[in-house]
Amino acid sequence: MAAPDESVVHGSKAQPKDLPALDKLLRDCAPLLAEHGHTLVAREARALLDGLRMRAVAGELMRLELDALPASLAARVQARLQPAMRAVLNLTGTVIHTNLGRALLADAALQQVLALMGAPNNLEFDLAAGGRGDRDDLVEDLLCELTGAEAATVVNNNAAAVLLSIAALAHGREVIVSRGELVEIGGAFRMPDVMAAAGATLVEVGTTNRTHPRDYEQAVTPRTGLIVKVHTSNYQVQGFTAAVDEATLSAIAHAAGLPLMTDLGSGALVDLSKYGLPAEPLPQAMLAAGCDVVTFSGDKLLGGPQAGLIVGSRAAIGTIRKSPMKRALRLSKLPLAALEATLRLYLRPERLAQDLPTLRLLTRSHAQIADLAQRLLPEVAAAVAPRFSVETVALQSQIGSGSLPVERLPSAGLAIAALDGRGRTLEALATALRALPRPVIGRVQDDRLLLDLRCLEEPALLTSQLGLLKEALA
Ligand SMILES: *Cc1c(COP(=O)(O)O)cnc(C)c1O
Repeated sequence: MAAPDESVVHGSKAQPKDLPALDKLLRDCAPLLAEHGHTLVAREARALLDGLRMRAVAGELMRLELDALPASLAARVQARLQPAMRAVLNLTGTVIHTNLGRALLADAALQQVLALMGAPNNLEFDLAAGGRGDRDDLVEDLLCELTGAEAATVVNNNAAAVLLSIAALAHGREVIVSRGELVEIGGAFRMPDVMAAAGATLVEVGTTNRTHPRDYEQAVTPRTGLIVKVHTSNYQVQGFTAAVDEATLSAIAHAAGLPLMTDLGSGALVDLSKYGLPAEPLPQAMLAAGCDVVTFSGDKLLGGPQAGLIVGSRAAIGTIRKSPMKRALRLSKLPLAALEATLRLYLRPERLAQDLPTLRLLTRSHAQIADLAQRLLPEVAAAVAPRFSVETVALQSQIGSGSLPVERLPSAGLAIAALDGRGRTLEALATALRALPRPVIGRVQDDRLLLDLRCLEEPALLTSQLGLLKEALA
């Protein structure tokens, strides 16, 4: 038991004069200084002492806290070294979640990034000839083989692919687009604005729901430089509709001596219906229908890193590659390494549903997910008791990232409800889940917090944190 006078001292309030000088605190933290150096440790020590001094002045600082100064400083230093970008558990039910980093990289892509990025590599070096190479060469043949294109190039993302293609093919010219396809993808990426940024003049044809071949034909003038089709990936026009398909449109474009470009957005490279998923238009079909340029994303259905892929005719890709914008929008070696490894997975389509995480998650069976929900129910229920109740529920996952917006995949998960029935309590639970070392992101719907388990491939990542969750809720 502590001596009475000591407990009196420790239980009392600290005065500003009780705080150690910076030098004294640093001397007490020699191992920390030795490990991290003076700059970071001294900066954090100063900030720590400043904060304590303010609390001492306000009469809020207990002497007891001064004993913990070295530990507090070590914790602050550790916290500063934690990256702000962290792995989370995506239990939102949206598989390709733009806010959560879109596609997960395959093992092969991760290994390639790890193996190559700490060493020099042949990014722009022709190993056979021993001279300067082109970074596009690393993936061009592969992209041509997979899509049937004559030529291909890659840039930073699909927004860049669209911007670059229009700028290269139609700067200072008119570009014809259907009114039904003037999409906003999110943020500031709206087709009319992209046209303006690319230095092209947008010529809208048709109506929101119906556009006909004659609409395009009548809009062609000597000033026209390009016809563009945009895959309306994040919404659907239903009902009394008409659009002109690529085959018809390419005939119209080519008769007028114009190139036809299609922005596919999602960019699946394999027929998803073979995997029991809703079909998505393929670049290979667009090229076969006569498109001169097709653009799509690397990190949506393709399941790779952020990248913009441009495939098409040798002439069109050649023009695009020569644009000065290409250099500004080029793909860096990091995603390029991951993209090449991801594309090579497509050489073995029989294994794709295993090797490619995006496809693996999208094809996970409802039975398997429901079984997981059943198994996790008791542990999760124990962790959130007594304030919350948990039950298994059937859910509908979304593919995400604007892909196939109206399609749903039968899924399963856990629904957590606050027993006192208050929204604030549920909000506190969602906050506690997000504060875990591996933050858990669910979705709130109808006064319940839903955890869709489709994307939980390693249940231990959740269960190992349930103890912490219980403490946080206590
Ligand atoms: C997603 C999308 C884009 C933008 O692609 P990013 O890779 O996100 O830059 C452009 N067009 C369409 C139709 C899309 O769906």
